[in-house]
Amino acid sequence: MRKIDDRRRNFLRSAGGSLIAIGAASGLGLSSRQAFSDNHQRVTQTRETQAAKTPAQALQRLKDGNARFVDGKLLKSNYREQMKATSGGQFPFAAIVGCIDSRASNELIFDQGIGDIFSTRVAGNFIDDEVLGGLEFACAISGALQIVVIGHTECGAIKGACDDVVFGNLTQTLSYIKPAVADVTGFDENRTSSNAQFVQAVADKNVALGIDRIRRRSPVLKALIDEGRLGLAGAMYDVHSGRVTFMS
Ligand SMILES: [Zn+2]
Repeated sequence: MRKIDDRRRNFLRSAGGSLIAIGAASGLGLSSRQAFSDNHQRVTQTRETQAAKTPAQALQRLKDGNARFVDGKLLKSNYREQMKATSGGQFPFAAIVGCIDSRASNELIFDQGIGDIFSTRVAGNFIDDEVLGGLEFACAISGALQIVVIGHTECGAIKGACDDVVFGNLTQTLSYIKPAVADVTGFDENRTSSNAQFVQAVADKNVALGIDRIRRRSPVLKALIDEGRLGLAGAMYDVHSGRVTFMS
């Protein structure tokens, strides 16, 4: 617990007053509470539950949640009670970057409730500087212990990037996926969305490049990762089976 609290305090001290205000808005310093205790019911995250976890335990919690989702054995939920329990502060244990795809909700596929995870969603689940800022808030200020960058099968954004789609602001959005398209080799005969294997290879590469970008572009997050205080993993969600496969 002390480690996490120190991390927050140190970051807030060095980050200045505006971030202190943001941290206060997220619930730092407020008393915690626990809404549920039964094993089959959802446990609302508190300062204590967050601080008691390691990055490995946070990752396992997500894996367990996806296993429940695949098996159809979801935890009993009372979101209204969780809303009330988290109204004074949030202590999520993970930060997940996924696609906007309607079939790939981060909360649903990992069977998580209100206050459990920070969720970033953008078409093609790429990492740009704005996403990085959110991740730094989630992990360095608010204490999340595990980052997951997750792509999914049958991704329309990936297919659009493969086909060089030009359309309104989507053109700019897809430009963030183009490095993954360019990096995938070995599909010289058909590098379009009609080649399902190529599309999946680009989706996998896109996640790998996202992970790499987090390390390269965020000294804040890299320091936490190198110290073993933050986990970083890539993953792929299968829209056919509901199963999440972790890459690292
Ligand atoms: Zn997608």
